[in-house]
Amino acid sequence: VLRIGVLGLQGDVREHLEALESLGVAALPVKSPDELSGLDGLVLPGGESTVIDKLSRLYGLAAVLKAKIADGFPVYGSCAGMILLADTIADPTMNLRGEPQQSFGGIDMVVKRNAFGRQVDSFEVDLEIKGLDGLAGSTPGGAQPPVRAAFIRAPWVQSVGDTVEVLASIPAENTPKGVDGTRTARIVAVRSGKLLATSFHPEVAGERRIHELFIHMIRGDA
Ligand code: GLN
Repeated sequence: VLRIGVLGLQGDVREHLEALESLGVAALPVKSPDELSGLDGLVLPGGESTVIDKLSRLYGLAAVLKAKIADGFPVYGSCAGMILLADTIADPTMNLRGEPQQSFGGIDMVVKRNAFGRQVDSFEVDLEIKGLDGLAGSTPGGAQPPVRAAFIRAPWVQSVGDTVEVLASIPAENTPKGVDGTRTARIVAVRSGKLLATSFHPEVAGERRIHELFIHMIRGDA
């Protein structure tokens, strides 16, 4: 049985543990560097990226995780988790000493935080996502119904490097105006090697296919 951790410092940890358990893997909360060993993969939950960054450095997790990511350790980040997987945060929050928030990095992309606006601007949209065909819930032809995606103070991906595959964008006609005041297509799901990131929260609406895709990525058959 695969053992998949959920970084358990802050955020919607329980929802991810439940999503993973429902797919038949062992799901374990991770709060210390020791608990990172012996895992086949890790989920970075949604929450507040500045808080997760601060606590993970305080507890000595950040350095260990960065090294593991560089070594090919599979990680899925949702929302705040996507921010933590970005090599570059477009507009990092500064702490009182004027130091920018940090990420674990791993995906060659620039991510913009709170890009769709504030909590009150949260929204849901149906998304076509690449790479889900053949997973549970697909029709006999292999095609997938769209994924109902919840965006809660969500980031978007502003740009990606050559090593990054875009798995989903919200088309311009369905995209709310962003904080830049424009309405254009926005990248909201990406994959790079064994790293997967989504701007939205599949776990809150009972959607399981993103976690399923991650499990296949770990097994090496997706
Ligand atoms: N806005 C949050 C951040 O910057 C992310 C929101 C979320 O994870 N729902 O960390």
